[in-house]
Amino acid sequence: MTIATATSMTSRERVLAALRREPVDRTPLCNPTSVATVELMDLVDTPFPAANREPELMARLAATGYTELGFDTIMPVFSIIQESSALGCKMQWEQKDNWPTVRMSEPIWEDLDDIVIPNDFLTHPDMACVLEAIRILKKEYGDEAAIVGKTMGPWTLGYHCFGVERFLLMSLDDPAKTKACLERMTEATVRFGVAQMEAGADALCLPDHATGDLVSGEYYERYLKDLHTELVERIPIPLILHICGRTVDRMDFIAETGMAAFHYDSKNRAQESMDIVDGRIALVGNINNPETLFAKGPEEVRAEVIENLEAGVQMIGPECAIPLQTPIENLVEIGRTVREWHAAQATKH
Ligand SMILES: [Zn+2]
Repeated sequence: MTIATATSMTSRERVLAALRREPVDRTPLCNPTSVATVELMDLVDTPFPAANREPELMARLAATGYTELGFDTIMPVFSIIQESSALGCKMQWEQKDNWPTVRMSEPIWEDLDDIVIPNDFLTHPDMACVLEAIRILKKEYGDEAAIVGKTMGPWTLGYHCFGVERFLLMSLDDPAKTKACLERMTEATVRFGVAQMEAGADALCLPDHATGDLVSGEYYERYLKDLHTELVERIPIPLILHICGRTVDRMDFIAETGMAAFHYDSKNRAQESMDIVDGRIALVGNINNPETLFAKGPEEVRAEVIENLEAGVQMIGPECAIPLQTPIENLVEIGRTVREWHAAQATKH
């Protein structure tokens, strides 16, 4: 990566430059999913589930990623359920120590014609909460930090609304119908994405869980590549695609969609991933959550950060939403390592 000599970039400028694969003063710390933890909830008095449903609490908890952990981004959408709640899915809101989930054992849709986006989709309380949190954060931190929103892709909405099994069976039995369903659900992705852009988001995470353990790279090409390309055209701010798991078999397709970045999992090595995407898209990642950030110490965190920096990965952060019990010490180590690594590089020249 090209490193600019000036160290005068704001966090926001740094992230937006990295998303365009332009020179930066140092590699930005980017969190496209969630860095909420129980410790941070206690620190600013913003417990789950309220912090997923009340905009002031959502914004205050999100801001700790910037103020306490030193990330260059602020990301207020801690879960993946806001749209599904507004579409009518049955919800389990859980308590402070757990993320809210959709009760996928009680799916709401069976067929193409069941897919209806309600008129009050964007004004539903769980959608309005995100939009208001983004407005609050834009007002308070918009000049300094990059405000990143999140809109779920159609594949994930399919899992939530049809149930994983029914949706995957449909994709095997009836590709034409599956494509028609995905197209309809994409309208929800676009509407929420554009609304967040209008509320002040600088970029959006776009999780679409065509994950390595459930579907193949060939599936990604057949069902999602064109839709993701269309999303880039219809939501005109930088999009960060997020797919968990081993995804090297689809990174070549992902790199052709026009997405600004791909948020990648630690099941993929940094260098092999950089080689595949070959400068067509930026990468964000990929510090391991369940083993490293949650259960190991700063030394192991440091090793993974350095592997990413040496491979030229454009933005560094956890691979996915971090476990709620992750120690703050490990999260702070990500930024410390990035700063020290760049300082050491500078003395070499
Ligand atoms: Zn993930």
